[in-house]
Amino acid sequence: METSVTEIAAGVFQMVVGEGAHDGVYAPNVYLVVGSERAAIIDTAYGRDEEVEAYLEFWRSVGAPEVAAIVLTHRHGDHIGGAARLREAMGGDVVCGVDEREAIESEFSASRMADAPYQRVSDAAIERDSIEGLSVDATVGDGATLALGGATLEFIHTPGHTLGSLCILHRDAGALFSGDMILGTGTTVISPEHGDMAAYIESMRKLLGYDARLIAPGHGPVIETPQAKLNELITHRLAREEQIVALVEAGNRSVDALLEAIYAGNIHPQLMETARSQIRAHIIKLEAEGRVANIDGQDG
Ligand SMILES: [Zn+2]
Repeated sequence: METSVTEIAAGVFQMVVGEGAHDGVYAPNVYLVVGSERAAIIDTAYGRDEEVEAYLEFWRSVGAPEVAAIVLTHRHGDHIGGAARLREAMGGDVVCGVDEREAIESEFSASRMADAPYQRVSDAAIERDSIEGLSVDATVGDGATLALGGATLEFIHTPGHTLGSLCILHRDAGALFSGDMILGTGTTVISPEHGDMAAYIESMRKLLGYDARLIAPGHGPVIETPQAKLNELITHRLAREEQIVALVEAGNRSVDALLEAIYAGNIHPQLMETARSQIRAHIIKLEAEGRVANIDGQDG
C-alpha cells in the first residue's frame, strides 16, 4: 500500500497509508506532532499491519521521540484501530474525551472485527487483542493542555459527529486536528445513533473562537482557510434545515418523502441510509426547537 508523509507545519507530520485503495474512500490521516522534548500521535487508523509498520518506521526515522500521548479524536474504528499496537511499540498514554471513553473501550473489539477480512485473525485472536487493547489510560477535559516542548496541544470538546468527539489545537502552529468533525473532502455524517446535529452546529460555532490557521482533518487534505470552512459548513447545515422545514410545511411529512424531495432519486444506493440518518438528525433538532412535529419514519 502506498504511504505518504507530509510535514504540514513545523514538526507536524500527516501520515497516510493506502490512499486510493478504495474508490471514493479517503484513508484515515494519522498525525505525529513532535515537540522539543516529547511527541504525540493523533488518531491511529484501522490498525492494519501495513499501517502500523509505516507509522513506526516514520517515527523511528525522526529519532523515535518519547511519545507522551496517543490521542483518539473519537470512537470510530478507522481512528482507534491501531491504538493498542502503537502504544505497545511507542509507549505513551491512550487519551480521549471524557464522554468517549466508554464507547471507545466497548467498540475496540468491533474495530478488530472489521479488520478480519484483511488479517484473517481467528476468533481467539480477536478476543485476545480486544482485551489487550481495551483500556483508555486517561481522559481530557475541555481546555486541558499537553506540553511537548515548544508545542502545546489544547483539547477542545466538540460533540456532534459523536457525543464525545475531540478536536485538538496545536497552539504554536495554529493547526486544528478535527478528526471527522471537519473533513478535507465530503460531508461529515451526523447520525442519531452516534451523534447530535444541534451539538454539531454548536461545536462548529465554538471552533470559530479559536485561532486556527489550518485544519488537519481525519480524512482528506489539509484545509488552509479554517474560518471560511467553518462558516461554509454551518451555512450548509442551516440551509438544509430551512429546506426541511419548508418541505414539511409543503406536506412532506415522512422521512422517505423528505429523502425523495431533497435528493430526487439522485443518490447512490450505498449512501441512502446515510442520507436518511442525516435527515433524521436534522428532524430531532427541529423537533426539539418546536419547528416540526410528527414526522413519519423518524423513529426507525
Ligand atoms: Zn468517524
